[in-house]
Amino acid sequence: MPPVFLKDLTREDLIKQLAQMGEKRFRATQLFKWLYQKGVADFSRMSDISRLSQERFALAFLPDSIRVLKTQQSRDGTEKLLYGLHDGQSMEGVLIPDGRRMTLCVSTQVGCKMGCAFCRTARMGWIRDLTAGEIVDQVCQASKRLGRGSRITNVVFMGMGEPLDNLDNVRKAIEILGYPEGFSFSHRRMTVSTCGLVDKLNGLGSWTKRFRLAVSLNAADNETRSRLMPVNQRFPIEKLLAACRKITLRNRERVTFEYILLKGVNDGLKDAKALARLIAPLKAKVNLIPFNETEDIPFKRTGEKEMLAFQEVLLNAHLTAMIRDSRGRDISAACGQLSSEETGSGPLR
Ligand code: SF4
Repeated sequence: MPPVFLKDLTREDLIKQLAQMGEKRFRATQLFKWLYQKGVADFSRMSDISRLSQERFALAFLPDSIRVLKTQQSRDGTEKLLYGLHDGQSMEGVLIPDGRRMTLCVSTQVGCKMGCAFCRTARMGWIRDLTAGEIVDQVCQASKRLGRGSRITNVVFMGMGEPLDNLDNVRKAIEILGYPEGFSFSHRRMTVSTCGLVDKLNGLGSWTKRFRLAVSLNAADNETRSRLMPVNQRFPIEKLLAACRKITLRNRERVTFEYILLKGVNDGLKDAKALARLIAPLKAKVNLIPFNETEDIPFKRTGEKEMLAFQEVLLNAHLTAMIRDSRGRDISAACGQLSSEETGSGPLR
């Protein structure tokens, strides 16, 4: 049998594989601790596992799914990582230090099918989904970049790709990242961002309690939203908000609506008022995201004054609305800028 990518396996999958090899189930806990808590992927260094089992595992499993090909450091401490995949494809992620927080933005697909007009990933089309192991391994590889005593505190699924378009692998990755004998990320520390695949949202049920949900809205009327996000033709705003209303949330939890401000497109006071009316009935908050201009995307950044005026309309409607700090702009790692010569494109909603 060809070796199996170890990080693709949930705990239950791993226990089954181990049973077929005549290994005890406690080995699953040992392997998870080595891989995800101690950051060790070399079986010969797993000192509480017998030499015989180490050798068996080395034949049966591939411990790494991806590798870091290149990194770029921003003046503000943000680091962009280019990852290589086993089939020669590549994708990107971003490590964002912010006080005591260390957030990793992970990709879920190579490319994307959704075609959002403000996003550079859309330009490359969809190449393939990432496996659960390729998603989980982004956390492992990025963790290795950190100094002693420092760890990734938050994972946001906002890199290349639409997470709900690769739902099975994203669910599996969330499960693996949440194990107490692994990274142990709680639902508060994982955020999944979607462009609004209503059919997938409707099917999530209580799974939405496993992470925080962010919805990339970007317009308060269907005409503008369909122009910016083709997904709106399939799932217009009314259907999207109806799905958001049905989402199972924990106490005091809210859906985040992301809104990229584009000069003269969706940033007027009438847009702000329409947005306030739309989301006022929901348990929701708004992240306003300044657009990062790039040569090949024909939108402009909203001015500071207009941004604040937009925010004020939402605050006056008693909504929580933050203007999100854009990090890593000098290395093209900020929202909407993720891009590399190697992949030829990149996102960050
Ligand atoms: S913004 Fe997200 S969903 Fe839209 S094209 Fe880019 S990666 Fe895909």
